[in-house]
Order: sequence, then C-alpha cells, then structure tokens
Amino acid sequence: MYFKSEGIVLREVLIDEADKLLDILTKEHGLVTAKARGVRRGRSPLKSACQLLTYSEFTLFEYRGKLTVQEAQPIEQFRQLREQLELFGLGSYFAQACSVVAQEDAPNPELLSLLSNCLYALSRLGKPQLLVKSVFELRLACLAGFAPELTGCCVCGKPDPDRFDLSQGLVHCAACHPDQGEGIRMPITTAVLCAMQYICWCDPKKLFSFKLDEASLQQLSSITEAYLMTQLEHSFSTLDFYKSLLPYGETT
Ligand SMILES: [Zn+2]
Repeated sequence: MYFKSEGIVLREVLIDEADKLLDILTKEHGLVTAKARGVRRGRSPLKSACQLLTYSEFTLFEYRGKLTVQEAQPIEQFRQLREQLELFGLGSYFAQACSVVAQEDAPNPELLSLLSNCLYALSRLGKPQLLVKSVFELRLACLAGFAPELTGCCVCGKPDPDRFDLSQGLVHCAACHPDQGEGIRMPITTAVLCAMQYICWCDPKKLFSFKLDEASLQQLSSITEAYLMTQLEHSFSTLDFYKSLLPYGETT
C-alpha cells in the first residue's frame, strides 16, 4: 500500500551500504520509521529530501508492517541550519525532544507545526536562539499535556509571584510558600512570567512576536528547559551537544 505524507526527518541511522533508516514526524500518521534505500549514493533522487531536519513530502510504501520511502520531495530544507553548527545543534535538540513526545499512528499536526515554525524562525527569520528555544520548550510541554498554571500565585492569587515550581508547574510568592520541602522552585521575574504567559496563550502564528532583554531571555530559557526536562523525565544528548558549542559563559 502506498500513501503520501508531509513530515520532518527527526533522526537518521545509517544502515547497510547505502541506506538510511529514518524517523519521520508526519502530519497524518505521527511518528513513522521508514527505510530509504540507496539514499547515500551520490545520485539518489531521495538524497536532499531525506536529510535530517528537512521538511519533505514523502511517498511511503508499506509491506508487512515495514515502510520504505518510494519518493520524496523537499518542501523546506532550512539551509541556514546546515551552515551554522550551533543552529544545527539546536535544531537537532528540537527533533530529539519531538521524538520523545510524538507517538506512532497518532497524528499530531500541532507538533509538526511547532517544530517547523521553530526551525523556520531559527533559519529564515534569524530570531535569537534562546527565544526560539524557550518558545519551543514551553509550547512542547503544553502539547505534551503539561501546560503550567501561570495566572497568579497559587496561594494568595497575587498576579506577580516570584517563584516557579518545576514539578507542579505553577507559580507562587516566596513568602506564601517556603522554599524548603519537595520540588525545585526557580526564581522568576515579572517580565519572564509575562513572556511565559504569552508563549502559552498566544496564537501559534505569533509565537515569536515578543522581546526580552538578554538577562531575562537567559532566565526564561533556564526555566523552560528545566521545566520540560522535569515534566518529560528525560534528558537530551543533543542539548548537551548544543551547549558544548556555545561560547564560554552562555550556559543555556
Ligand atoms: Zn502569594
């Protein structure tokens, strides 16, 4: 049986002499694994569309539960990601995180849209890396069912609390809730809280339409990263790799 689907290549494993096994996040079928035969040969027509972090239209053939790529046309190659190692590292982290959240046979067009929007923001719009990273992490947490409760202090209701609780996904004032006890609470400024509210509640088309100063972006990125990892109970080798590429001092 043949079927078509748009999708982004999340992972590739080299197999045999010239083949690749691809994990593809598709629009209609969720996460699929498909073999691309001969794709590593110089003149393979599948070559450009089957690269990591490429958005393509795939024609897949299913036989006895296994998929092979019959045809593939690139839709968006995010070229700038391939020219800057840092951007490629960050994009690879996005892909790995999507593969943890995505499921087989469960269409998740919002997830594909988030990934493609974030790769586009990095490659074509030239948005700051920390901004795109924060948006990706927090929206991914929301899509995975872990939307934080950000309307105000969970104890007194004050609109500008100064602590974010990573395991509970809520905010409170330091005075309302002592910093001892279970769970990790991170300091949060009002500017960062507003940015988190914006990211969680905005129209997906306007995800990157906000500005923060550098110090706030650093704090935002530390919080969204720690929150995503706490909620997914997962760490990411690609994130460690991305961080290893950053100049000394930029730890997030
Ligand atoms: Zn309070």
